[in-house]
Amino acid sequence: MRKNIVAGNWKMNKTFSEAEELTDQIFLSLEEKSLKCDVIICPPALYLEMTSDYAEESRLKVGAQNVSEHEKGAYTGEISAAMLASIDMEYCIVGHSERRKYFHETNDQLAQKVNRLLDYGIKPIFCVGEVLEEREKNIHFDIVKKQLEESLFHLNKDEFSNVVLAYEPVWAIGTGKTASPEQAQEMHAYIRKMIAEKYDANTADEVSILYGGSCNPGNAKTLFSQNDVDGGLIGGASLKADDFMAIAESFE
Ligand code: PEP
Repeated sequence: MRKNIVAGNWKMNKTFSEAEELTDQIFLSLEEKSLKCDVIICPPALYLEMTSDYAEESRLKVGAQNVSEHEKGAYTGEISAAMLASIDMEYCIVGHSERRKYFHETNDQLAQKVNRLLDYGIKPIFCVGEVLEEREKNIHFDIVKKQLEESLFHLNKDEFSNVVLAYEPVWAIGTGKTASPEQAQEMHAYIRKMIAEKYDANTADEVSILYGGSCNPGNAKTLFSQNDVDGGLIGGASLKADDFMAIAESFE
């Protein structure tokens, strides 16, 4: 059965002590609650080891926000999949729209990042999604199809089974404008259909597809109750333990 997941993308937020405090709050909350989902936090790279130490003692899981497409060498400032694996990283976000926009990451480059992660047994949380203009032109399905085809569909079935997907309409990220539950369900069902066509019905049924874009404690329940929505990738609301854990408690 596919997993329900709530993953927090902290982006470039929090000093070390703030990150420690937030991790501690989430850790303690996880001790008390019995949840119907896995909880992943994706802090800045500098804090991965500290958060991994917490994860060792708990159900909490940790993911990185980025990885280099290169194996190793003269790439100043980059972090490799081997480095992430050496601190037991379980997940890594790939293809976030901010990386596509500000760092000009291409579908081809993202495919290489996915390969590097899978080489080291790290599960990619792969983000897809259209910008507002693309939705207004009614080409959002084509955009997501191309992102899947060019960055993921070179994988064989076994490799693909390690991928978590996140549908993040770019117009909903950090804007307070959430996709309606119907819009999210429609795209998630489309993604699952594409996966069934490429691989098979079982592979499509097993993959977790998260929704991301202004998800908060007020709208998470309705979004997560959609058939093909298996949880959320949470930005802003993951920076406060109470909000983040309230979202994690939103599964029926
Ligand atoms: C994100 O950046 O992945 C995200 C979903 O952000 P927010 O929840 O703030 O819209």
